[in-house]
Amino acid sequence: MPENYDLAVIGGGSGGLACAQRAAQYGARAVVIESGRLGGTCVNVGCVPKKVMWNAAELAAGLEDAADYGFALDVRGLDFGALKAKRDAYVARLNDIYAQNLDRRGVALVRGRARFAGTHELAVGERRLRAERIVIATGGRPQRALFPGGERCIDSDGFFGLEAVPARTLIAGSGYVAVELAGILAALGSEVTLAIRYDSVLRSFDAMLGAGAMRALRESGIEIVTAARAASLATKGDALELTLEDGRVLPPVDYLLWAAGREPAVDDLGLALAGVELDATGFVKVDAWQQTSAAHVFAIGDVTGRLPLTPVAIAAGRRLSDRLYGGMTGRHLDYENVPTVIFTHPPIGTVGLTEAEARARHGDAAVRTYTSGFVPMYHALTARKPRAEMKLVVAGPDERIVGLHVIGEGADEMLQGFAVAVRMGARKRDFDDTVAIHPTSAEEFVTM
Ligand SMILES: Cc1cc2nc3c(=O)[nH]c(=O)nc-3n(C[C@H](O)[C@H](O)[C@H](O)COP(=O)(O)OP(=O)(O)OC[C@H]3O[C@@H](n4cnc5c(N)ncnc54)[C@H](O)[C@@H]3O)c2cc1C
Repeated sequence: MPENYDLAVIGGGSGGLACAQRAAQYGARAVVIESGRLGGTCVNVGCVPKKVMWNAAELAAGLEDAADYGFALDVRGLDFGALKAKRDAYVARLNDIYAQNLDRRGVALVRGRARFAGTHELAVGERRLRAERIVIATGGRPQRALFPGGERCIDSDGFFGLEAVPARTLIAGSGYVAVELAGILAALGSEVTLAIRYDSVLRSFDAMLGAGAMRALRESGIEIVTAARAASLATKGDALELTLEDGRVLPPVDYLLWAAGREPAVDDLGLALAGVELDATGFVKVDAWQQTSAAHVFAIGDVTGRLPLTPVAIAAGRRLSDRLYGGMTGRHLDYENVPTVIFTHPPIGTVGLTEAEARARHGDAAVRTYTSGFVPMYHALTARKPRAEMKLVVAGPDERIVGLHVIGEGADEMLQGFAVAVRMGARKRDFDDTVAIHPTSAEEFVTM
């Protein structure tokens, strides 16, 4: 006999946990099925361990700067093993906390891999679960390197398994995962080469940010190889050597980290049995209400291919449960003006439209930009001089702020408050009317 639930959520990552817990708060009998570690990508091989490593990388730079501020330090290198052990222990604590949270909120947890066994039925090993509604929150995984020798690559999951900082690392990719991991490894002492397919990184973001990131990566000693399309990877002694389609052979490295994108985790779900369709790129097709092509099946988070970010998956999951079980009929996630940070060195913050998107949407004549570029005051005393760049994109006669972009120290913490203002429809004159906080980098946004 199948076990019966109101809601079955496949995947105990950011979106799935949030959705199930919110449903349970409204009294729904909810179950989460998870085949791996609770918390999903973000907690185990994404945001959380990445931010720990970014913090370590920032400290490495801070130690350099300390000497410029007059401190006499005797730094005897990095005990990478100790850093990894503490990071992994922190993640394990979070795994436990997530399990306790489910328990406390009365959400059942089934460990194992789920697949559809009927329209309303899921199979997890020998177990059968029946649910009135089912949510697919299975996330994604790194794309594999499909050229000869590609199996020798590691991916971002493998990055978190490294036991030491590689002496030489080649990273292939130009998205945020590639540039973040490149920055971290370089700061921790690896000789890093970044191979990108075109001529810039972060191509889906405002052009100012891509250019700023390229400059910052190069300033931190990273070699960038442009127009690089991988053809084959061969071993040369203990090292790996990547040959590109145009015949160039890149210098030997200890690791090739393939970070060319992520794909949805859908293969063995048996979606056809439930009538769930995929879109042309293989992600689960959903409408504005997270509903799939089957009326009782919903999908949230990375598996839908829309803004693959933890808070987006959480917000979509909570709003879905608010609507299905909390009586909030109109509730759904608005995917516009979602702020995001890229943890480069210095970090990047961005919300709203890029300048190019704003021009395409509002027309050239209606769009204006305000920019500022400077070396933050912190670096007045340091040998390092990383620049900050900021841009406001405004549209219409009342100069409504439709995009706000920044690369520079503090951008990560600066952005959230500005995102509220943008979401509320702030105009340039509202920024002008706000008294600055001095001396900060953020004040540039209200003094442009
Ligand atoms: C290196 C890296 C860094 C990142 N940094 C950030 C960041 O700084 N900020 C940010 O917002 N986002 C970041 N992200 C993105 C973020 O991790 C994802 O957007 C988020 O985890 C998506 O949540 P999700 O619930 O959709 O999927 P996931 O968190 O991936 O959860 C899906 C879960 O489903 C499980 N599962 C899959 N198939 C099945 C099945 N058939 N049966 C049972 N269980 C199954 C998986 O084991 C997994 O636990 C990062 C991602 C990576 C890779």
